[in-house]
Amino acid sequence: MKVLFVVWENDPFFKLGGLGDVARSLPGALETLGADIRVIIPFYKVVKMGRNKKTKIGEYSFSYGGKVSRVEIWQAQNPYTKVIGYFLKNSKYLGVVLPIETWGFFNKAVVELIKSGILNWTPDIIHTNDFHGGLIPLLIKQEKLPIRTMLTIHNLAFQGKAPVSIIQRMGIDPTLCRILPWEIKSRQINFLQEGIIHANIITTVSPTYAKEILTEEFGYGLHEILRAKEGLIYGILNGIDIDWRHTSRNPAVKFPYGPKEKRIGEKIEYYDWREGKTLDKEFLQKKLGLRVGKDIPMLCFTGRLSEAQKGLDILHRMLRRIDKTRFQFVVLGTGEKEWEERFKWLSTFYPKYISCNFKFDDTLAHQVYAASDFIVVPSRYEPCGLIQMIAMLFGTIPIAHKTGGLKDSIREGYNGFLFSDYSSEALERKVVKAVTMWETQKTTYEIMVKHTLATDFSWKKNAKEYLMLYEKLLTNPDKMFKNTVNNITKQ
Ligand code: ADP
Repeated sequence: MKVLFVVWENDPFFKLGGLGDVARSLPGALETLGADIRVIIPFYKVVKMGRNKKTKIGEYSFSYGGKVSRVEIWQAQNPYTKVIGYFLKNSKYLGVVLPIETWGFFNKAVVELIKSGILNWTPDIIHTNDFHGGLIPLLIKQEKLPIRTMLTIHNLAFQGKAPVSIIQRMGIDPTLCRILPWEIKSRQINFLQEGIIHANIITTVSPTYAKEILTEEFGYGLHEILRAKEGLIYGILNGIDIDWRHTSRNPAVKFPYGPKEKRIGEKIEYYDWREGKTLDKEFLQKKLGLRVGKDIPMLCFTGRLSEAQKGLDILHRMLRRIDKTRFQFVVLGTGEKEWEERFKWLSTFYPKYISCNFKFDDTLAHQVYAASDFIVVPSRYEPCGLIQMIAMLFGTIPIAHKTGGLKDSIREGYNGFLFSDYSSEALERKVVKAVTMWETQKTTYEIMVKHTLATDFSWKKNAKEYLMLYEKLLTNPDKMFKNTVNNITKQ
């Protein structure tokens, strides 16, 4: 079974968030299970090849916007998984991300690459991700290529809307594209919507999010289109790599720890988690200029500073209200400047208790996971979320909003705390409960930490579900998929 995984980031070559992790780890797990899977992204100027050997496979050209464009195809192996990565190079469209033009060109370039035969390898399935590859299923149909398509939605909020003129530049028959009634005036097409309509199977990154996106509240205007595909939408919880990267064996972590101390002769291989976490906390307190002491619980927030998704409003409100000397709070994130200012303002009054770090720093991220006792994940919506899973591998207990993948990966009172109402009061109640447990109920706290350390977030089970869907795609007759698409286009 040959699968081309189309995506816009692929760690370690280029990563901005959780999707980069998934583009590395899921194909890695699928390859271990026997799939011949390869990952393709644009060859941006900022792609980091490091010491990986890269090879130019060839060049091809096609017409885009009435002009002939040339594309180079490069190959390099992912250093962690050995999965083959392809990189499409064109300085005009793929060197830096142009809001939509890059994706129109990239989609066309992927399909033209397959048609060119340069790879000497034709996929049976194209597994595309988010809006960035949204027009590929339609192009595959238009070209009548014998390839099945799967679209995974990692975040429905980002849809890739563009003036309809882009489809002319791509050479797509305009009658195949649907403009939503409210977009007719603006003459926009929607990449993600076209992907949903034309892909043979849709998946999303947790079972709960698969249900949520069918509702008006979480459907971002596409819930009706999605409902018409009911029966072909699957929710599969993302996994993470259970290796040095996300455990205290990560070289960034100064005092590695595990469920129990491990010594080899006199040398401590890793500490018991209680001791290791305390030492890592003291290290981080010094590094960030916080009050040094093991008697104070540490909470953290890591991630994109996006108000629409990540729950910054309720987090900030809660922090403004609560007694800020009862715990320390570390913020690590990048994003909306307005929120950076607001959190920074809080930390100027409590410099020994609140630390703000507005940068993308993988080393610091792992030091924060290792040192913290709790991670706060107040997301308004969260398709899957990886930070709670990574934190749990460090024995760091999540306090999270009961939504999407947070609901599917955390069990209230067992390995974390969940609040149902999206409000700063509900968040505060859980924060107070967690901190009180840490201060006064050490046995309960330690049992919860043991549960987090033992939770299995590997891809072992869930990658098999993807494999089963690939098999379904290859064994089911075309008719089965065509019917659903017709239902939608008739609406
Ligand atoms: P997203 O919605 O951004 O994909 P996830 O929780 O799924 O959120 O994944 C975020 C990933 O990016 C995790 O690997 C997390 O450690 C990493 N990350 C986010 N912000 C930062 C940062 N400022 N520095 C380092 N790593 C970060």
